[in-house]
Amino acid sequence: MQKGDQLYAGKAKSIYLTDDPTKLILHFRDDTSAFDGEKVEQLDRKGMVNNRFNAFVMEMLEKDGLSTHFEKILSEDESLVKRLEMIPVECVVRNFAAGSICKRLGLKEGLELNTPIFEFFLKDDARHDPMINEFHIRAFGWAEEREVERMKELTFRVNDVLTRLFRGAGMLLVDFKLEFGRYEGELLLGDEFTPDGCRIWDATTREKLDKDRFRRNLGGVIEAYEEVAHRLGVPSEYS
Ligand code: ADP
Ligand code: UDP
Repeated sequence: MQKGDQLYAGKAKSIYLTDDPTKLILHFRDDTSAFDGEKVEQLDRKGMVNNRFNAFVMEMLEKDGLSTHFEKILSEDESLVKRLEMIPVECVVRNFAAGSICKRLGLKEGLELNTPIFEFFLKDDARHDPMINEFHIRAFGWAEEREVERMKELTFRVNDVLTRLFRGAGMLLVDFKLEFGRYEGELLLGDEFTPDGCRIWDATTREKLDKDRFRRNLGGVIEAYEEVAHRLGVPSEYS
């Protein structure tokens, strides 16, 4: 697999073309950003930890019958993925109240929700990723009706699989964000699943083990990511 030109550099990952037009290389950088890119720092080992974490979760989802863009790990901080035509929305599921829903609805952080809540956000940093609903997606043609249904169905399935996985390792999956894209007429899970895009708490102490440690200057960010990876059984070296 030949690495080609850089296609795109996002806030935390860079994407490269390959000699296969249907495949891309995701490079997980050490850059850590929050508040739509307003706060950025380099955190040692993050690219490496997230690359392995993402591979572990994507492979687990594949085993559970969920189609993802993930192909294989290429190096410590790079993975090969299928090139998707990304849908410009973020799919968020929440099991406990935290983050933006607390501000929006005046909820106390940690409230356990009676049923998971699904929310759509537009991927648009300049406008701070505004919350949208299915009518916006339809009106502006960001995705087709059946794609909207599929994104919800797949996101809830991911929630079922991963809630069990984290529970089994003594953690709560509080909320998370997914992105989907089109590939040969199918909708696949794209982007990443790492502690950068979800909230994970210790089930007993409720200690934060995700990017909120960075957002709130709690320290020990990468140590927390490594702790979660260790508890889940993510291999500590790529192979
Ligand atoms: P952002 O763009 O939000 O700053 P990243 O730094 O994580 O985020 O950049 C990764 C970018 O690559 C995102 O815009 C994401 O939508 C896109 N992406 C993820 N997976 C794929 C894929 N398989 N094919 C094409 N684009 C992808
Ligand atoms: N999230 C993300 N990228 C975004 C926005 C949110 O990965 O651009 C994740 C975030 O880490 C959390 C979940 O989606 O796990 C819900 O985020 P929320 O709406 O609470 O926004 P926040 O207050 O975290 O910005």
